[in-house]
Amino acid sequence: MSINSMTAIVFFSSMSIAFATGEASSTGDMLIENIRIIDGKGNAPVEAQDVLVAKGKIARVADHGEFETAAEVKRVDGEGLTLMPGLIDAHSHIFFSRDADWRRGLKELLYSGITSVNTVGGVLEFEMEAKEILANSDEPFPTVSFSGYLQNGISEEGKLPDEVDSTGMILSLKSNQDVVSALDRHQAAGIKMVKAYMQLPLRRLEFFVDEAHKRGMRVVIDSSRAIGTVAINRTGVDGYAHQPWHFPASREEIQDAKQRGIWFLSTLNVFEFMASTERYPLADEVEYLITEPLVSPFYEEEDIRSASSGLHMFIDGVKNTFVQQYGERYNEDADKWFEIGSENTRRLFAAGILVGMGTDTTGHWALRPPGWLLHYEMELWTEADIAPIKAIQAATYNNARILEIDDKTGSISEGLEADLLIVAGDPAANIRDTRNIRYVFLDGKLVDRPSLVSSKSN
Ligand SMILES: [Zn+2]
Repeated sequence: MSINSMTAIVFFSSMSIAFATGEASSTGDMLIENIRIIDGKGNAPVEAQDVLVAKGKIARVADHGEFETAAEVKRVDGEGLTLMPGLIDAHSHIFFSRDADWRRGLKELLYSGITSVNTVGGVLEFEMEAKEILANSDEPFPTVSFSGYLQNGISEEGKLPDEVDSTGMILSLKSNQDVVSALDRHQAAGIKMVKAYMQLPLRRLEFFVDEAHKRGMRVVIDSSRAIGTVAINRTGVDGYAHQPWHFPASREEIQDAKQRGIWFLSTLNVFEFMASTERYPLADEVEYLITEPLVSPFYEEEDIRSASSGLHMFIDGVKNTFVQQYGERYNEDADKWFEIGSENTRRLFAAGILVGMGTDTTGHWALRPPGWLLHYEMELWTEADIAPIKAIQAATYNNARILEIDDKTGSISEGLEADLLIVAGDPAANIRDTRNIRYVFLDGKLVDRPSLVSSKSN
């Protein structure tokens, strides 16, 4: 028997005990008793709280024993556990191609406590098909918001953008008329946030932002080497899909972004992955990943081992592509990306700028397991000397504010939808405790996590 399947069996049997005792029912009201709460807003954890979940909402939060509940209400004993908001992945590409196995990716995310996902680049038509399927599905999936295509342009030098788009998710806007028709298409599809991409020249980007705002859509941009610069800030973009990673942000740039209310999404995991195979755990900590409770249920031990051994080759291929695009300096630069990105994240957050986070994943893939990666991004924040409670804030409340869903989810507040994560231990003390998942609730319903894994063979 492989280590992988043993882990799975141990894991499943502990889950089925919880279900058999009826501690938490899949429907109806529920009282979570005597639990530590991390509210998602960056406040210190509060011990010994009772939380009543009723009609899918967080109905009441109070000190343990402060309010009475009808005897028939199901109870969850929260002793030793922590309740926090369901996590939000604000930067995903789960519908990046027609071949993408998005169901599997979404299930992996939900299993890992991610109750909301936002795409920032995908095939619009494919996203709309998926949206329809999701709306009519009886199966539990995270709540998904879409942004359609990566909307690209022609570089200042007149070069065509990367025409070798094997995924189909890049749309080239060669004129203002292209911008207008692309934005009309996205608006008609109900998109609320559109994604602008690297090679849109400044003047076309300005036009793009104006036209998007006229249509009630916000603009998130990946401008690569110009992320966080005053020149891009001035175009009126609402936020960036990454933190600046090519250069240390200047005080002027940080103040400018702050004054304009521009937000950033942190994706340190990507910079680490692309810059330094020495650091990335898939390369160096294979034994850890094989037993990692959020990875092992979805990937065979052999998948992880071969992903790890193929990692260097894969990254070399990625780097070669970039060297062709940007020149020999790329390799040297890439080694610094992670450190620069970490330092910028710490400084942007400390300046009071709204910073959220995402995985930048494409879905089920052993090289970048999407559920685990959001937890790992939080760990990378703590390595950048940001308190665990603030990393959790970025993955919950800040992401909800950026996506303008904070009136529905993203914090432990009365009246919000009960998208909840219950973990063993105290993630405010040890960020890896967010991975010790006991229960996930989606709209107040307990998610049957083992059933998400059983689709592994689909
Ligand atoms: Zn991305």
